[in-house]
Amino acid sequence: MTTIFSKIISGEISADIVYKTPKIIAFKDIFPQAPTHILVVPAVPYENILEADSDTIVELFAVIKHLVSSLGLEKGGFRVVINTGDEGGQTVPHLHLHLLAGRDMKWPPG
Ligand code: AMP
Repeated sequence: MTTIFSKIISGEISADIVYKTPKIIAFKDIFPQAPTHILVVPAVPYENILEADSDTIVELFAVIKHLVSSLGLEKGGFRVVINTGDEGGQTVPHLHLHLLAGRDMKWPPG
């Protein structure tokens, strides 16, 4: 499915890109929920994590680890979120991981 994320990946729509390979892109969320809020997105438009192959899932988390290290988030901590489906709060049907950091996170999430 073509979503706004496919347009960011193709360059049709601009975004604040912090990491990019042919397989994975990461960019700042346009509506940040924390001082650091980055979306990590596979180039292949899997609708959700259930559709993605294991290699892609591993690579997405490798990028999360890379960003945590390069942004120095280890000490303060961070949260990774994958909203999935309607009840999961997913609004863009293209798999993406939210990397959130820079404030105290609440639990349970809303
Ligand atoms: P979700 O609700 O988990 O599907 O997350 C979708 C996220 O995409 C939301 O946090 C939005 O703020 C974000 N978003 C939507 N459009 C853009 C955009 N053009 N650039 C960056 N982030 C976006």
